[in-house]
Amino acid sequence: MIPVTKPYLPSREKLDKYIDGIYERHWFTNNGQLVRELTRRLEEYLGVENLLLVANGTLALQIAYRALGVSDTQPDENPEAITTPFTFIATASSLKWDGVEPVFADIDPDTWCLDPAKIEAAITPNTRAVVPVHVFGNACNVEEIGSIARKNNLKVIYDASHAFGVQYKGESILKYGDAATLSFHATKLFHTGEGGAIVFKHKEDLARARKMINFGITGPECIEELGINAKMSELQAAMGLCVLDEIEMNLNARAVVWQRYEQALGHTVKRQIQSPGLGYNFAYVPVVFDSEEQTIRIAASLKDQGILTRRYFYPSLESVVCLGDSHSHEVSSDIASRILCLPIYSDLSERAQELVINVIKAELAA
Ligand SMILES: *Cc1c(COP(=O)(O)O)cnc(C)c1O
Repeated sequence: MIPVTKPYLPSREKLDKYIDGIYERHWFTNNGQLVRELTRRLEEYLGVENLLLVANGTLALQIAYRALGVSDTQPDENPEAITTPFTFIATASSLKWDGVEPVFADIDPDTWCLDPAKIEAAITPNTRAVVPVHVFGNACNVEEIGSIARKNNLKVIYDASHAFGVQYKGESILKYGDAATLSFHATKLFHTGEGGAIVFKHKEDLARARKMINFGITGPECIEELGINAKMSELQAAMGLCVLDEIEMNLNARAVVWQRYEQALGHTVKRQIQSPGLGYNFAYVPVVFDSEEQTIRIAASLKDQGILTRRYFYPSLESVVCLGDSHSHEVSSDIASRILCLPIYSDLSERAQELVINVIKAELAA
């Protein structure tokens, strides 16, 4: 079986050494030594400041909303945030869960990220924030989104779950917005099993979030504000330190896989168009076919050969009833109906990849 993705397994010996250290210190969580070390190393590797590690990528979004005052509302307020329907459910459900109405705006047909003109059209007096997604690691139109936010006094929280290590115009994409969040779920490019992080623009927001992830506790007898438990543990950090040590190897291997797909299929299927200035991380291989029928047929043929793909992202989120915004969005629902993500991971063999490519080519020729 060829899965669509495989969690990266770093050196077991190295992981064991970190775990030995955890045993010696008898210290499993609460901003331990490994969490502090991973924070420092990630800030250095990513080229950012004000990074806060948390228990997962969904809590990263929720803590960012809280710390930036998007979700801590008075009873008579009905805050809204504009986001994309072409994303993983957590982007929108985290808003709804925290009492902020997700209002969808359509995506750009080329980059598949939020279309700034559609954001502007969706603003109401209740709009507090924009939550764009650097989908599949492509850069949103950060300049225009920034200017819309300034003009309308909105916070911007980028869901950068797919954008670990992505550069934009020579710098980390995570520097844009009031905050950018990462997911370190096992299936992501860089992972800690479960985990996540927030990169804040301002130190004060980081300080507030740091209290929030530990129940609002700031001292042995002091609880300063409303908090929750969103702390990363030492075991998670140990995995992260090991994965980070091997990240270049992982990225290089994926780049080879990604480019082989591009060469073999680039001229026959529609792909995401990378924003100018993007330094890509080769996290995903999404391809769009001519019709939904063709997409489903190709996925079935691949499955017959033991190759798993994912209709990712499908469905477009306006069709998810519990989110409460059912207005249709033409571009998002069209792309969502015709998209497949193809297998990519660092040790995907050339032979396995040839099989994927040949099955698709045969279907396209049929
Ligand atoms: C993975 C993902 C999340 C959720 O992250 P978890 O760590 O699984 O909670 C949120 N948004 C996007 C776009 C994702 O891909």
